[in-house]
Amino acid sequence: AYDGILRRQSARESAARTYARALPIVPVRARGLTIEGADGRRYLDCLSGAGTLALGHNHPVVLEAIRNVLDSGAPLHALDLATPVKDAFTTELFRTLPPGLADHARVQFCGPAGTDAVEAALKLVRTATGRSGILAFTGAYHGMTAGALEVSGGATDVRVTRLPYPQDYRCPFGVGGEYGAELSARWTESVLDDAKSGVPLPAGMILEPVQGEGGVHPAPDVWMRRMRKITEARSIPLIADEVQTGVGRTGRFWAVEHSGVVPDVMVLSKAIGGSLPLAVLVYRDDLDVWQPGAHAGTFRGNQLAMAAGAATLAYVRENRLAEHAALLGTRMLGQLRALADDFACVGDVRGRGLMIGVELVNPEGAPESAPLDALPAGSRPAAPALAAAVQRECLRRGLIVELGGRQTSVVRLLPPLTISDEQATAVLDRLADAVAAVAR
Ligand code: PMP
Repeated sequence: AYDGILRRQSARESAARTYARALPIVPVRARGLTIEGADGRRYLDCLSGAGTLALGHNHPVVLEAIRNVLDSGAPLHALDLATPVKDAFTTELFRTLPPGLADHARVQFCGPAGTDAVEAALKLVRTATGRSGILAFTGAYHGMTAGALEVSGGATDVRVTRLPYPQDYRCPFGVGGEYGAELSARWTESVLDDAKSGVPLPAGMILEPVQGEGGVHPAPDVWMRRMRKITEARSIPLIADEVQTGVGRTGRFWAVEHSGVVPDVMVLSKAIGGSLPLAVLVYRDDLDVWQPGAHAGTFRGNQLAMAAGAATLAYVRENRLAEHAALLGTRMLGQLRALADDFACVGDVRGRGLMIGVELVNPEGAPESAPLDALPAGSRPAAPALAAAVQRECLRRGLIVELGGRQTSVVRLLPPLTISDEQATAVLDRLADAVAAVAR
């Protein structure tokens, strides 16, 4: 039966399937960090629904919240009508918002996916400013619908201006650190202020506080504050895409809190639905320029997702899971850096909280050219095949990890925030074994 399911689905389903290729398993049960396959094997799941499962699989408080809605006889489909379930969700969401936004925020239910909320954000700032240009960053990932694709890497839309996102490893300026971030900020200023750059005053800037799909690049806090100053001074709304970084993942409830930056718009999805599809925008109320119906969608009222989401937000807040993510993430990063010392094919280890990336490189490859000598440690060519081999070896050892990065050379860990110290040790042991198995 197990082989039949795999065979039938690969024969019937679109070639666009991704996870299913690297992870040929048939999950039938799951709890917390653990997934059990139809073959009876158990896996530690550090993919977590692509970073969605803040509380892991089937957390009792999430299940209870869903059951309560089902048992209450409430309508499951409620369009955008007022309901008690939505009321509870928004109350909990507003309780968590960064100070400075919470007291004059509006929430807009989009959805069901993160990419839908990104579309709404772009449309909102364009409508509010009457301008059309958008500033976006290299390596960005905002989704797969047309507008979101244009602000992700590889845009062709003439209205989108791509700016260099700061990163230490393979810094576009060859320096990394805060100096590299400062150069990114100066680049941004010169693009905006040089009348001959041909870039008119844009409608908004969209950024991820930590790039996830782009290969786990945390933006320095000083850079975040520079971007806030640059946009504020020119009345450019700043959109923080916290689809992946939100709800405690990076060690603060929202990743913008590390820098204290208050964005004008926040895009939220993934964990806010407690494992069910939900996506919202939160924005300053003076940006609320929509005409009724100017942005609609049939599935804006998923009551089960709102209930699961409210339970998740409350649980993360009450149990201080963001602090847990910060502490455990720091320990995991430290141990992974020791791994990098042992294996030359581990080129870089980086992350924030429980959003962690391990980049595989070809250690024999020539150091990549650096415009300045100061390049930290010198980056080596990305090794996507090696990263895929590590992922395979992890799976053999009962560990599910994701791959990411612009060249798919980064092994990514996105465990649930409920992961214990002992479980983290098991994850690191299996990953270290897998790296040892592929290292030459
Ligand atoms: N923004 C970011 C930062 C993301 O990581 C993702 C998904 N990985 C999206 C937007 C798109 O979300 P969805 O896949 O739900 O459309």
